[in-house]
Amino acid sequence: MAMMKALQKKVKGPGLELCQVEVPKIRADQVLVKIEMAAICGTDLHIYNWNSWSANRVQPPRILGHEFTGRIVQLGADVTGLQAGMLVTAEGHFTCGRCYYCRTGQGHICDDVKILGVDVDGIFAEYAAIDAKNVWPLPEDGDPAIGAVHDPLGNAVHAAYTHCLTGQNVVITGCGPIGLFCIALARQAGARRVFASDVNDYRINLAKKLGADYVVNAQEEDLADIVHGATGIGADILLEMSGSRPALASGLDALRKGAVVSLLGIFSDQVDMNLDAVIFKQLTLYGINGRRIFDTWFQMEAALAAGLDVSPVITHRFSFEQYEEAMALMNSGRCGKVLLIP
Ligand code: NAD
Ligand code: ZN
Repeated sequence: MAMMKALQKKVKGPGLELCQVEVPKIRADQVLVKIEMAAICGTDLHIYNWNSWSANRVQPPRILGHEFTGRIVQLGADVTGLQAGMLVTAEGHFTCGRCYYCRTGQGHICDDVKILGVDVDGIFAEYAAIDAKNVWPLPEDGDPAIGAVHDPLGNAVHAAYTHCLTGQNVVITGCGPIGLFCIALARQAGARRVFASDVNDYRINLAKKLGADYVVNAQEEDLADIVHGATGIGADILLEMSGSRPALASGLDALRKGAVVSLLGIFSDQVDMNLDAVIFKQLTLYGINGRRIFDTWFQMEAALAAGLDVSPVITHRFSFEQYEEAMALMNSGRCGKVLLIP
């Protein structure tokens, strides 16, 4: 039987192992993909560190990873419309197709979703089995590194494109990879001013590179003061990309009456928020979960084809053998998006 290397969570607890495992066998509705580039998501880091969420969710042995570019090398018997040799990535949420949400075009909030690299074996491997319905073909002449970040870029597209950004004053709290993608999207959409905040110098520098007009170190400056000073009345849109309670509070303070908010950042514990601000400013809050399947993907394809440049977000590349170094760097926060190459 054919073997491959894979980064696997072998037992419950912190860490990962670089193992030799069998190349997966595909079902009739799947394709086998040879992975060319993988990217590390915060979720992979949580599973690596083995936080309480992953301890409750992940059943080892499990190959991690869901962000990738690869080439199709084998097609299941029932697969049509795809060919061996195609350069692809994929939507990593395998939806059930049967629940109320799937049947009403809202598969991104499916009741029985299986996540690649979390609930089924993922793509930190030389090969992966991917449901054909989830495959997203990439342009042949495209940069495989950009292909590998479609999943988090899609999160940013979903959060940002929930609103019309053109001509608007946009606040982005949190400049991790997804917040940084939002800066690029707001710029491309013709936002009037883009305000971004973080507490990490490395990411503050990246936010400047991505073209934010005002980059605020939330530990040293008051975001709301800066936004009100520049706009007179406050910002039109908040994209909350940090999952930090002080960031959310300052972001809400920065808004004008009637403003809109996308909440994408995940808070590790209960949030006390000032609902008076929401009520008396008449704000509208939108929860953002994953990517709309596949509306978001078509929007992302269009944005990239129109010249969206997110390459400065990708800061480091490691081989699979260097996974511990890559995870340590991710834990330090002194990086943008980190790639792993099999
Ligand atoms: P990340 O952890 O790399 O980025 C978060 C950033 O927020 C960091 O740069 C951090 O320094 C910054 N931050 C912390 N405190 C802050 C403060 N007080 N003010 C301003 N910034 C502050 O994460 P990411 O990969 O870019 O993802 C962004 C968030 O979205 C995370 O919370 C992640 O869990 C969440 N997420 C949600 C979904 C979804 O479907 N809703 C999907 C993917 C990720
Ligand atoms: Zn479903």
